[in-house]
Amino acid sequence: MLARGRSLLSLGVYVLVFGCGDSPGHRVDTAHPPAGAGGAGGRGGAGGAPGGGEAGQGGSPNDPDVGSKVDAAMPGGTDASGGLQPDASPGGDVSDGGPAACPLGAEAAMLDVEAVAVTNEAGGPPGKGDAVTVRLRVRNAGAAGAKVSFTPLLSSARFSDFEAVPLGTTTATVCPGNEASFVDVTGGPFLSDPAAGKHYALGSGDYTVAAVTLAATDAAGSMDRDFTGGRFTVETSNALLVPVFYDPQYFARIEGFRGTPAEYMTQAFTRPGEIFTPASSADPDGEGTYRTFARGFDQMMGVRHHFRLFEGFARRADDLAGWCESAAVHARETLGMPTAWTGSGTRRDRHGFDYLIALTPNMGGGVACGWLDVQLSSFINRDLDRQQIIAVHESAHLFGSPHCDDVGNGSGGNLQSYVMCAGEKHAHYPQTFVWHSTSIAQMKSRWD
Ligand SMILES: [Zn+2]
Repeated sequence: MLARGRSLLSLGVYVLVFGCGDSPGHRVDTAHPPAGAGGAGGRGGAGGAPGGGEAGQGGSPNDPDVGSKVDAAMPGGTDASGGLQPDASPGGDVSDGGPAACPLGAEAAMLDVEAVAVTNEAGGPPGKGDAVTVRLRVRNAGAAGAKVSFTPLLSSARFSDFEAVPLGTTTATVCPGNEASFVDVTGGPFLSDPAAGKHYALGSGDYTVAAVTLAATDAAGSMDRDFTGGRFTVETSNALLVPVFYDPQYFARIEGFRGTPAEYMTQAFTRPGEIFTPASSADPDGEGTYRTFARGFDQMMGVRHHFRLFEGFARRADDLAGWCESAAVHARETLGMPTAWTGSGTRRDRHGFDYLIALTPNMGGGVACGWLDVQLSSFINRDLDRQQIIAVHESAHLFGSPHCDDVGNGSGGNLQSYVMCAGEKHAHYPQTFVWHSTSIAQMKSRWD
């Protein structure tokens, strides 16, 4: 049931760890799911592997949450040049950066946000994993232009402790006149509220633009809550919104990787993989067929990982609490959650995030805890390939896969050389990570 020392596997009900090199694998965490915790009985074990996925598709991987952009295109207009363009026409157009289209002087309080419209960046209904754009229709009742920073605040109907979270900020000059101006503010899928010390993800569900703050550079800001169009829905999708808490030493010690932590995660979850399906279930390691997935885990599972990287996970190996529990506490503190990170599946109390990954150099192998939706990935040796196979191995536990050693090799021995059972032994490794069909059959995303 286990392959110690040389393989990615170890034994145990849920949490296992691998030994490194030739040292015997040792279990470091014997925690079991609490009774009734809904764990996938007997699943989710612990192999070692840091999870990774696509970091910040559509956003900068390391800090994708505060991006905002300006778009001066008017509805029906043809301005696709990007950036706000000064427009000298009398009816208050938006401008930013360039010469003001009108003399400045009005206060933010003279502005009225009349309506908002929320879309994804392509102009369609927002889906989970998308950045969203809030288009503000603004009128300036003053006699002069106002250069103002607009910040829509979002509240979630599905997620708790998700009230008035800033989407991002766009600064624009709004000129007076009878014609409204339009200001676009884009942000997500990850959001931050620095003032509150909280971080969020735009998970699927209903939201409202609860308010828009308007702050002039030379005057006190104001808040507008009276406008139409504030309700919107983020439709579910195959996107997974995953916070990654990492000890910088994890990356400092890996050999052969020069990218960012976010790039590392994306690479791990999108590097080529294969699924091996034996011709006969009586001989799991006999003749069979390989199906290739050029974009690896994500393509194989039909998901899109979006990672939000947080530097600073620094648990030591001699801490008394379990590794998963330690990561859960770290997540609650870092994300600013008022209640514990616990349970499984998409929950209302996780600020919109799905499952959690922690990366540490201080543990041999890794561990996954299905009853917490937490996986920690650590080291076996120091090479890039081994650490990335650990990462996807641990996430596979959270997707429902147990180890595959027990499937057997058809001749009385353990099955080996697939990701969930000593995957580094396969002849195709490290060019591809090879999964056994019996593992895949038990895996599915449990988050919406
Ligand atoms: Zn495992």
